[in-house]
Amino acid sequence: MSGNETMGAAIMAMTDALARCSEAGPGVSRHFLTPEHKQAAALIRGWMDDAGMETHMDAIGNVVGRYRGDGSIGRCLITGSHQDTVRQGGRYDGMLGIVTPIVCIAALNRQGRRLPFDIEVIAFGDEEGVRFGTTLLGSHAVAGNFDPGVLDKCDRAGVSIAGALERFGLDPAGIPAAARRAEDVLAYVELHIEQGPVLEAEGLPVGVVTAIAGATRSLVRFTGVAGHAGTVPMTARRDALAGAAEAILAVERLCAEGRDLVGTVGIVEASPGAANVIPGGASFSLDVRAPGDADRDRVLAAIREEFETVCARRGLSLEIEDVYDEPAVTCAPWLVEAGRDAIAGEGIRPLALFSGAGHDAVALSAICDVGMLFVRCKGGISHNPAEAITEADADTGARVFLRYLERIAERSA
Ligand SMILES: [Zn+2]
Repeated sequence: MSGNETMGAAIMAMTDALARCSEAGPGVSRHFLTPEHKQAAALIRGWMDDAGMETHMDAIGNVVGRYRGDGSIGRCLITGSHQDTVRQGGRYDGMLGIVTPIVCIAALNRQGRRLPFDIEVIAFGDEEGVRFGTTLLGSHAVAGNFDPGVLDKCDRAGVSIAGALERFGLDPAGIPAAARRAEDVLAYVELHIEQGPVLEAEGLPVGVVTAIAGATRSLVRFTGVAGHAGTVPMTARRDALAGAAEAILAVERLCAEGRDLVGTVGIVEASPGAANVIPGGASFSLDVRAPGDADRDRVLAAIREEFETVCARRGLSLEIEDVYDEPAVTCAPWLVEAGRDAIAGEGIRPLALFSGAGHDAVALSAICDVGMLFVRCKGGISHNPAEAITEADADTGARVFLRYLERIAERSA
């Protein structure tokens, strides 16, 4: 990073360099506690050092850089995002929220400017959870709600998280010390690619996030009676899959009726699963998300009622097992306002939108106010090698982020 190039050019060069820390194959594949993670962490730490930050790696593999403020506000502003990717993912999901703050701090440092508070940039080691099937390990450790029970979880090669940490040169016993006290943290703010098509459709490079959608994931089972595909008349059937098909269409219809609601059935299985057997069983996944918990609860109740109606009419029995339930996170209104002002300050219409995807901010919301900014991505595509942003948008994102820091400072004074 030199003093002459634009912040956007620096961001693109840094995300390109991080993208090379990857397993072979299309896109970027960089997982928790791997040699690629180690390579990326060294790059990030070097950039933080160059930007005038004090750096360390904590016991869960997060790279932490602190840029000292002038001391007038004792609490620290935390920002950052995740360094890991999905399998064959893109180069901006997560990384943009690490390198943009570093580039902004480098600019402040060159000008000899200090904020009223210390600012910490954290490159979280694990958010996507590809290797161990867990999520938000890095940010949970920082938020102090890391579950030590997960240390025994193993990857496909049988290596536990505890073992992988030790091989990486870290001591799992040190994880509790990575936690911050709520009273020491001013807020957590995160810049992220949108991963959706709204900003592009609105012709806007950036937007401010009002909420991160809550999600409920369930496994639904319909049970009827299996039978001979040739001999059981249509009127005498209790076909579980036909019932499930009707129910899945009801999910689509009910979620389309609500504002900002999304519902998805991504897995369907029929049993016994033969061309000449009426399906006696059908199971499917259900994923429902909304930025407001009351809206999500309401549509889930309507969906259940619809499932019961379908089952009663078709003589099927119904089981619903909830496998995951995460409440929505509302971004702090003062941080939403700071984001709006920062965007408007660049002469851009400040659009507020919600996030349908989960982020590290969800974990941090346990200890502090959270705020998020989104940067437009091409076609709304992410978790894909085709994930793309423009240099101009990266530059706008950085300029807005710098203003965001100033607005946060004003509102915290
Ligand atoms: Zn992400």
